[in-house]
Amino acid sequence: MTAVDPSATASAQLPRTTCPVGVLLCPFPDAMTDLQQELDHLRLQVRTDALTGVSNYRFFIDALEQEVERSSRNGRPTSLLMIDIDHFKQVNDIHGHEVGNQALIHVAALISAQVRKLDIVCRYGGEEFAVILPETELYSAIPVGERIRLTLAGTPLQQDGVLLELTVSLGLATYLPYSLSSATELISQADQYLYEAKKNGRNRLCHTDVPQPESISNEEKQTLIKLFGRDSNAKD
Ligand code: GH3
Ligand code: MG
Ligand code: MG
Repeated sequence: MTAVDPSATASAQLPRTTCPVGVLLCPFPDAMTDLQQELDHLRLQVRTDALTGVSNYRFFIDALEQEVERSSRNGRPTSLLMIDIDHFKQVNDIHGHEVGNQALIHVAALISAQVRKLDIVCRYGGEEFAVILPETELYSAIPVGERIRLTLAGTPLQQDGVLLELTVSLGLATYLPYSLSSATELISQADQYLYEAKKNGRNRLCHTDVPQPESISNEEKQTLIKLFGRDSNAKD
């Protein structure tokens, strides 16, 4: 699961601080260690969604901007999955808000179990989740999205004797320096595909067409050459 493990915080592994001037029975090192641990805990809280344990919206925006910035420098792709639970309002209406909350926890855990450690699972808001897939091409992100969709559809939640079948719709887009200009544009494109998935019947993944090598335009080629220099195998 991508949710941050509190036991893995830096100070949890640090030895307790000793008094810098070597005073025995000095009360301050212990107090400083406790404060450091509290600070780590607060840092974690600020970036975590309290209900589901995955990263929250604030962390998502920062992380996506950072990944897009990295992609624009190194030319490697960043993929983004936007995931929305289908007909979730009915879950609350029929089974109540508490079962709805359990369903959100269930979905967050299943999504997290389907992605790599380096991928970033976030609660985007309400019953919507986002997964940032750093250094991931569109063609590699498609099976991840499909795996999430199929796992969700095939793993009903058992809650208070109720078997709750949930499905999700997903939109997928990929950032490359020549294709999109910003994190905002990447979110907006993934959102458009999510909207398409809803419109086309839900429980599906929609995404940009996978580019064929011959479909790379001259402008895109020039951008790549500017970023990485001339292809040494190219003939004049
Ligand atoms: P669609 O398939 O079009 O996405 O339909 P939907 O019913 O999932 O979408 P809609 O936007 O109509 O409803 C979303 C529901 O999610 C309504 C809202 O009460 C519920 N919801 C949002 N956040 C939470 C939460 O934290 N807990 C619970 N239990 N429900 C939530
Ligand atoms: Mg929904
Ligand atoms: Mg929604």
